[in-house]
Amino acid sequence: MYFGVQAMLLSVHGKDKNNYFRVVPTGNENYHLKMQQNNRITSLFGIDFPLIQAGMIWCSGWQLAAAVSNAGGLGIIGSGSMYPEVLDEHIQKCKQATNKPFAVNLPMLYPNIEEHIQTIIKHQVPIVFTSAGNPKTWTAHLKSHGIKVVHVVSSLKFALKAQDAGVDAVVAEGFEAGGHNGRDETTTMCLIPLVAKELSIPLIAAGGIGTGRGMLAAMNLGADGVQIGSRFIATPESSAHENFKQTVIETPEGGTQLTLKELTPVRLIKNPFYNEVESAYQRCATQEELQALLGRGRAKKGMFEGDLINGELEVGQISGLITEIKPAAEVVQEIIHEFREALNEQQQSKFQF
Ligand code: NDP
Ligand code: NDP
Repeated sequence: MYFGVQAMLLSVHGKDKNNYFRVVPTGNENYHLKMQQNNRITSLFGIDFPLIQAGMIWCSGWQLAAAVSNAGGLGIIGSGSMYPEVLDEHIQKCKQATNKPFAVNLPMLYPNIEEHIQTIIKHQVPIVFTSAGNPKTWTAHLKSHGIKVVHVVSSLKFALKAQDAGVDAVVAEGFEAGGHNGRDETTTMCLIPLVAKELSIPLIAAGGIGTGRGMLAAMNLGADGVQIGSRFIATPESSAHENFKQTVIETPEGGTQLTLKELTPVRLIKNPFYNEVESAYQRCATQEELQALLGRGRAKKGMFEGDLINGELEVGQISGLITEIKPAAEVVQEIIHEFREALNEQQQSKFQF
C-alpha cells in the first residue's frame, strides 16, 4: 500500500461534484484507473494524484517536472524564463526522463510566445497551463492540436472568462501565492468557494498550499485538486540557485510581501532589493522610477544566480512552513500521506459536534 495507509475505500459525503481520489488496496489491477476515474483532475490529465507542481520561472526546468510526474503528480516546465531553444531542450529532456504526462506553463506576456507554441506542438506536449493574459488568444489553437489547456486566474470574473474561452480547467490562485499575483488580494480561502460555486469545469486551487492538510482544506473548499509551487523550490531537482533554496527554507512567517502593484504585482522575500523598493514607495516614487529601479532580469539574478541582495526572490507565504530541502518525489509522497491522514481524522470526532 502506498505510504502505509490502511487498505480501505474512503467515501466522502456530499462531495459528488469534486470527489476526492480514493484510497484503494495495492495489488488491485485497476488501481491507477480507479484513482484517475474518481477525481476530475486525475481523470483529465491521466495522473495518479490531483497534485500539480506549478510552473515557476527559473525554478522549474525539466528535472523538477519529470520528478513530479514520475511521482504521480503533474510536473510543469516554467517556460516564461526560457529562450525558445532552451524550452525545446527542456521538453526533449523531460520526455526522455518520464513517460508520464507533463505540462508547460506559458505566461502570455512572454515576448516570443508563438515560437514557444510551435515548440510545444512540435513535441506533442499533452497539457499547457497559460497565465497572465487572455485565454481566448491561444486556447482554440492549442486544443485543435489535441492539447489540454488550463488557465491560471486570480478572480471569479477571470475564471468564468477562461471557462467561456473553452479551457479544460482553471487554476484559481489566492493572495498567499509567490511570484505574480492578482491585484485584488483575494485569499485562497475566499477565492476557491466563490469560484467553485459558479464554475462547471474542474477547479485547481493554488496559493498558500504546501502540505497534505492544506491540500485537503482546498478540496473541502470545493477544488478538485491543487497546484503547489513554493514547496517544490526547496528540492534538489529545482533549477533554483542553492542560495535561493536555502533562503526559502529559512524564511519565516511574515517574511514575504506582495509589492510593485503599479507594475506587475509580485510576492517577494523581504531582502535588500525589496527594502529598496519599499524606500522608493516611502519617497513617493513615480511608476517610471519604480520601473527603472526594477530594471531587467531581477528574477534571474535572485532565483537562478543566487544574488540574495540585488535579486528578486519570488516565493509564497507558505515558505514559513517549508524547513527542509528534500527530493520532489518525497515531497509528493509526504503531501499525499498527510492528506490521507487528515482525511481519516476529518471523519473522526474532531469534526463532529
Ligand atoms: P544542465 O546541468 O544540463 O546545465 C546547466 C547549465 O546551466 C550549464 O550550462 C551552466 O552553465 C548553466 N548555469 C548554471 N548555473 C548558472 C547560472 N547561475 N547562471 C547562468 N547559467 C548557469 O542543466 P539543465 O539541463 O537543467 O539546463 C539546460 C539549459 O536550460 C541550460 O542552458 C540552463 O541554463 C537552462 N535553464 C533555464 C531555466 C530557466 O528557467 N530559464 C531553468 C533551468 C535551466 P556553465 O556550467 O557553462 O556555467
Ligand atoms: P524581465 O523583463 O525582467 O527579464 C526577462 C527575463 O526573461 C530575462 O532574465 C531573460 O533572460 C529571460 N528571457 C527568456 N526568454 C526571453 C525572451 N524571449 N526575450 C527576453 N527575455 C527572455 O522579466 P522577468 O524576469 O520579471 O519575467 C520574465 C517572464 O516570466 C515574463 O514572461 C513574466 O510574465 C514571467 N513571470 C511569471 C511569473 C509567474 O509566477 N508565473 C513570475 C514572474 C515572471 P536573460 O537574462 O538570460 O536574457
